[in-house]
Formats: sequence, C-alpha cells, structure tokens
Amino acid sequence: MKYDYLIVGSGLFGATFAYFAKKAGKNSLVIDKRPQLGGNVYCEQIEGINVHKYGAHIFHTNNKEVWDFVNSIVPFNRYTNSPVANYKGTLYNLPFNMNTFYQMWGVTTPAEAQAKIDEQKAFALTCLNGREPANLEEQALCLVGEDIFVKLIKEYTEKQWGRKCSELPAFIIKRLPVRYTYDNNYFNDLYQGIPIGGYNILINRLLEGIDCKTGIDFFDNLKNNWQNIAKKLVYCGPLDEFFQFSLGHLDWRTVTFKTRIEDTPNYQGNAVVNYTSYDKPYTRIIEHKHFEMFGNNIYNCPKTVVSEEYSVEYKYGMEQYYPINDNRNNTIAEQYKILASQQQNVLFGGRLAEYKYYDMAPIIEKVMNLWK
Ligand SMILES: Cc1cc2nc3c(=O)[nH]c(=O)nc-3n(C[C@H](O)[C@H](O)[C@H](O)COP(=O)(O)OP(=O)(O)OC[C@H]3O[C@@H](n4cnc5c(N)ncnc54)[C@H](O)[C@@H]3O)c2cc1C
Repeated sequence: MKYDYLIVGSGLFGATFAYFAKKAGKNSLVIDKRPQLGGNVYCEQIEGINVHKYGAHIFHTNNKEVWDFVNSIVPFNRYTNSPVANYKGTLYNLPFNMNTFYQMWGVTTPAEAQAKIDEQKAFALTCLNGREPANLEEQALCLVGEDIFVKLIKEYTEKQWGRKCSELPAFIIKRLPVRYTYDNNYFNDLYQGIPIGGYNILINRLLEGIDCKTGIDFFDNLKNNWQNIAKKLVYCGPLDEFFQFSLGHLDWRTVTFKTRIEDTPNYQGNAVVNYTSYDKPYTRIIEHKHFEMFGNNIYNCPKTVVSEEYSVEYKYGMEQYYPINDNRNNTIAEQYKILASQQQNVLFGGRLAEYKYYDMAPIIEKVMNLWK
C-alpha cells in the first residue's frame, strides 16, 4: 500500500497535519525517531503527575478558531501562567506589575510606581548621553531602570545565555512590558490552559486511526526510498540535516532538566519559579502538578515532581530547542530554505524544519490554514 503522506515527526505539526489529512480522506504514516509520539509536548507520567519531559508547555492564543479546535479534541483546563521570581530568597511576582513594584519598593499606587520607574529610566538615559543602547544591559536599564534590571533580569539572562548582559546584543530585549495593574497573568492572550489529562491525550486523539511508528529515524531508513512508501513527504525534522549539513550546521540554544520526586504534596506552591540570582545555578524550577491540579486537589496526590532547568551551551547531538537568529544562522537557514523550496512533493513544516521558534498555537494555525 502506498500512503498519501509520510510524515516525519509526531510533534504538534505532524500530528495536526495527519489529523486534517485523515479528515480530507488521505492516509498517512507518521514516524518519529523518539520512542514516543508527541514531539516536545510529550509528558511522562510519574507519581500520577504529567511531567513535561521536554520543557514546560502552556498553551495560549488569541485565535478563537485554534482554541475551539484544540478544545474539540480535548477540553482544556483553566491554568493561568503566573510565574514567581526568587532573587536571593526574596520573592517577586511576574510579569512586572503592581504586585512586583509593591514587593520591590513598597509603592501601592500606579502613580508612585510609574514615578519610581521613570526616575530610574531617566538616570539610565542620562548615562547614554544621547546615543543608542549598545548592549542588552543598557537596553534593559533604559526600559525598566536599575532595580528591576539587577534583581529580575541581569543574572537570570546571564545564566540563560552564558554571557554577560553587557556583551549581549540589545535586540534580544526589544520590549519589557510593564503593567500598572495588580495582574500576575503572564500572557495577554484571551485563552490559555493545559489539556485536561495532559498533552498526550491531545496527541493520541489527533493521531487516532492513523498508522504511527516510533523509534524510526528517517535518515537511517527512508531518506532515499520514501517515494516507495508515500506520494508526498511532510518533513518536521531539522532543516540542515535534510541536506546533510552541506551548507553548515545551524546552531541552537538548549536547556537540560534535573527532575526529581519530592516527598511532599506541595513543594513550591506554583508551577513556575524563576531563579534570578547566581546563588542557584538553574534558571527555573517547574513543579509539574500545578499545571493540572488546583486548590486542595493537589493534596490528593501525596508526592510531587519538580524539574530544575539549566541553560547549557549547545553541542551537536543535544536537544535543539531555540533557534539562534543571528546573522550567520539566518543566512545559512535562508540558503537551506531555497534548497527546500526546490524539493518536489516535500513539505517542510514545524520549528525544526523551518528553523523558527513557534509557540504551539501558531503551529496549529499554520496547519489549519494549509488545509483550508
Ligand atoms: C523548552 C520549550 C518550551 C516551550 N514552551 C512552550 C509554551 O509554554 N507554550 C507554547 O505555545 N509553546 C512552547 N514551546 C514551543 C513548542 O514546543 C512548539 O511550538 C512545538 O513543539 C512545535 O511542534 P513541532 O511539531 O514543530 O516540533 P516538535 O514537537 O519538536 O516535533 C518534531 C518531531 O520530529 C521528530 N524528528 C526529528 N527528526 C526526525 C527524524 N530524522 N526521523 C524521525 N523523526 C524525527 C522529533 O523526534 C520530534 O518528535 C516550547 C518549546 C521549547 C523548546
């Protein structure tokens, strides 16, 4: 039998594509080199808790069509992302809002907070003496002033990038939104949440009735003879690998996780705590149960699972998480994309094949639009 599509990668792009193909009467074979389906949204069950194995994933969107679609596959819960920052043991709410300013300076009104930030921004601008910010440090100081920069941005960013803020380019931080309301909701989007029962349910339902094979690497088995299996190829793997790195390797930023079980039902009281000082080597601790258990329900599960998140320098072979959109990598990626556009019957889709950071909702929106 020849499939209509061979889909390489069972992440949200591949799984959503296979779902719409099936609805259109096309049949697909989905393969993934990992031992499980789902790509980066895959969750591992530990102690009855869905552990986000490839990094914490919070679904958020303004697009009602996308939200209605995912909820038609599996209902989503009411999780609202409201991270907390820990700077040398003192806690601050994020994103920067009136709660943060109260914790930072004791100010209680928007006018007092604004005056404080304006004063600090003015000082930073005076130091620049009319020139543009030359690096991330100067940029951030001009946007939010010294106190927020020092306690909530500087060391966190340096841990993330492994370089001093004064050595990082200013463009990394274009805007630093500041809210003069008591609002800890991280996202501005209309809709956010986590699939009830976890992301694996979303993936499994998208792929229901579709042939799937895990533990199969496209390059080991199928690169040269996929046309014997399917009429068209949907490729969600790394762009440079498809072309045997002929134009060079694309760089990525990666993170690693140290995950452990804690013998307490509630370790940190929140899903996400950012560690914004050097006294802790990790950037964040994720407590996974808070994505899906709320109120007293967290105590029905006697243990908890936490993951420390570390930024590490990317080396070939590591998980490819965030594309590095500097000049070198953008130029190489553009050249690969020209080669990709010349491939017959091959669609390059998703974050790896497009060498582009996508949130989950835009990935789904993209596939929905392809099938319209
Ligand atoms: C750490 C992190 C946190 C994130 N958090 C959020 C968040 O909170 N909210 C949000 O909206 N988005 C988040 N995202 C983005 C989200 O992960 C992506 O939008 C989504 O995973 C993209 O799906 P995809 O199918 O393109 O890629 P992936 O999920 O990576 O799937 C690609 C699949 O292709 C497979 N594959 C690759 N090469 C081969 C090969 N040669 N043969 C066979 N299979 C292959 C891989 O094994 C993988 O399963 C986050 C991303 C990261 C990295």
